[in-house]
Amino acid sequence: MEHYSSQITRLIEELSRLPGIGAKSAQRLAFHIINMPVEQVERLSAAIIDAKKNVRYCKTCFTLTDDAVCPICKNPKRDHGIIMVVENSRDLSAYEKTGKYEGVYHVLHGAISPMLGIGPNDIKLKELMQRLQADVKEVIIATNSSLEGETTAMYISKLIKPTKIKVSRIASGVPVGGDLEYIDEVTLLRALEGRVEL
Ligand code: ZN
Repeated sequence: MEHYSSQITRLIEELSRLPGIGAKSAQRLAFHIINMPVEQVERLSAAIIDAKKNVRYCKTCFTLTDDAVCPICKNPKRDHGIIMVVENSRDLSAYEKTGKYEGVYHVLHGAISPMLGIGPNDIKLKELMQRLQADVKEVIIATNSSLEGETTAMYISKLIKPTKIKVSRIASGVPVGGDLEYIDEVTLLRALEGRVEL
């Protein structure tokens, strides 16, 4: 890339570090940005910096939010007695898009994976157990159907069993190894409605 100016090379290099952006896409994006009006570029870079500086974990459910507590946890119309456990905020968004789930969430930020050395203490599991001290009727485990997701689901259900709180697992309408965020809303709803008690 020596034939480009060093500033363009730098921009291409930074862009190509993003997930899913190969060398060609990075070049295309870099030239697109250079041809954009300067105000638009400023808006883009400000949006990136603001999001990075202000987005944090909700102190209740640990999803990403701008506030101390996210809009879902703040909403009195949601059923705070039903907690759906998901691996990440993208999975939460997938269920929110169905518009049919009335409970609240708990975001683990990962799944247990002995192979990758990720144990129960590396995800937000303690925090989930703390939430169960409050009045909780049901915990719906909606981790992915990958090996890690299933391991995590089993671990959580064993942990919760002694508390006598109802624990359920979303139905296996979700393809094995499937990432929740790529599954259509109908399948997600079917999985939720067909959940089985563990
Ligand atoms: Zn929250």
